[in-house]
This record gives sequence, C-alpha cells and structure tokens, in this order.
Amino acid sequence: MRAIVLNGPRSVSQVEVEFPTPGPGEVLLRMLGVGICGSDLSVFYGHRQVPYYPWQMGHEGVGEVVGFGGDVSHLKIGDRVVLEPNYCCFSCSECFKGNTSGCLNRVIVGMAVPGILADYVVVPAPFAWKAPKDLSVGELIALEPFTVGVAALRRSNIQSGDRALVVGMGSTGLLLAGLLISRGFDTYFVEVSSERAALAATLGASSYSALEPSSFERVFETSGSSGGFEIALKSAASGGTIVLIGLSSEPVEVVPADLVRRRLSLVGSMIYDHPTDFATTMAAQPNFLRSVVQARFSFDKAQDAFESAHAVPGKSWISVVEERESL
Ligand SMILES: [Zn+2]
Ligand SMILES: [Zn+2]
Repeated sequence: MRAIVLNGPRSVSQVEVEFPTPGPGEVLLRMLGVGICGSDLSVFYGHRQVPYYPWQMGHEGVGEVVGFGGDVSHLKIGDRVVLEPNYCCFSCSECFKGNTSGCLNRVIVGMAVPGILADYVVVPAPFAWKAPKDLSVGELIALEPFTVGVAALRRSNIQSGDRALVVGMGSTGLLLAGLLISRGFDTYFVEVSSERAALAATLGASSYSALEPSSFERVFETSGSSGGFEIALKSAASGGTIVLIGLSSEPVEVVPADLVRRRLSLVGSMIYDHPTDFATTMAAQPNFLRSVVQARFSFDKAQDAFESAHAVPGKSWISVVEERESL
C-alpha cells in the first residue's frame, strides 16, 4: 500500500509501506481524503520538527471503516469517519477536568506519531467519529478545522446580539466565520488577501473596514500574527472578549491599563476538547463547507499540493482514492 512521506524539508514522495493491523480498541480505515493545514505546512517547510525522516504526513482525514481490532460498538464496516487527530490520555489531571486540549500526554497525529496520508491506517476507536450523511469527502475534510472554530465559539461565551470580528481568513478563520453566520451572529472579517476576502464575502461576512474601532463584543484572532493581535485588541468593545486561536510567537506590546479600563478578557483557545466539541460538530450539519474547501489534488500530486497550499485561498486536500470513484 502507498503512503506519502516527507524526506526532508520541502520534499515529499510516494512510498510503499506495510499494511497496518488494528490492535485492541483500534479501527482500520481505508483513507478517502486528507486535508492540508498550516501545521502540515510548518512540518513540510521544516519549521516544525518531526521525530525522524522519512515521516508519514497528514492529520486531517476522512476514511471508511474496513476492520476492527476487538469490540468497537459505535462503528460498523463501511461507515465513513472523520478523525479527531489529537489523542488525549483520559487519565491525567487535565483530562479528568475535561480540558483534553491540555492533556499532559496528548498525542498529535502527524507530529508525534506518523500521519494518515496513506491507503490504510489504524486509529483509536474513540477518535473515529461517524461522519454525518450527505456531506462529500471534500466537505468532511473541513470538519476537523471546523471543530477548532466550534471550540473557540464555545469558549468565547458569545451572547445573542453580539457582533463578531474574525481576524484572518485562512481556513480556520473562514470556517469560524461561516459557523458564526450560521448561528445568526453579525460577522465581520479582516483579511489582507483579496481572494480570501472574496471567499469570506461569499459566506456572508462583512469587511471590517466599514466600522469604527472598539465595536465588537467578540473578536477571534486566527491569523497568528502580531499585526492580527493588534487589530483584535483595537477592535474589541469595552467589556468584550478576544479569543486567540492563531499561534503567534512574536512579542506584542500591550498596555495593561488599556485592558483594565476597557475591561477586556483574553481567552486562549487551543484546538478542541474531547468529546464535547467533535460531538457538537457532528450534529451541526454545516452547509457552507463546499465554499471553503477549494483545491483537490490526486495522491500522486502530493508534492504540488504541499507546495501550493499556502497560496490557495480556502482549504487544499489530497484525494487518496482514484479520481473516478464517486466521493
Ligand atoms: Zn490541521
Ligand atoms: Zn490526559
């Protein structure tokens, strides 16, 4: 069977690997498609270290159940599943509190353990979610990053009537904007790329430029840049909440008195918590995913997919099965 491995920065290739065997509590999946996100790109470009090369890529995946190792009650052969690619341990102090995103032993697929960009993979059953019917593989690919938005929205404690601003219209920002709009919130965005801004507009979000600063009760920073953080800080209304999702390591200047006087809350929102947020996603039936998932690449074009992903507005993904199979 085939897999896509990273040989070193900027170079992936297709290799033959051994067929995996599911252990107890594991599910064997025939992969259908795998999405590409910013963390894959930081691995691809060598900015984020992986344990060794060649390294099997991918963590946002959709597959079909083809086998089990022992009893798995919530799935059957032939089910389509979406992978929750952060395995928490269920037994540390954070897991006991329900904060599985802070799990002390969290295993990140494609970073700590080999990825899922292969014909077949095995995954732990609790993290294989039965996919909603009526969504294509391309749309299902978006559900993992969509769940990042679901968690951010939950943690924002947004109230009806609140005006929301999303900074950055990468895939996470677009999916979060779509989610906010689908929940009836008046949603604005900030984005420098005109193509990404056009995508945001098709979702029904409005450009921020038309508004005065300090007018948003909830601001979501997804760009992961210091400039994005500064915009978020400026645009939050008094008593508002800024939810930080983008991972920026650049220092920023903050005047504490400004936060105090404007009674602002800063909330860090790391991925999602198991099982709450994926459970919400699976019940959500979002209808806008097709406009966010843009570029589909075949398995043998993986190098092109990784090289071009940063320039593609919306999400890129790699189809693991043949083009002719109906997805
Ligand atoms: Zn991702
Ligand atoms: Zn844990």
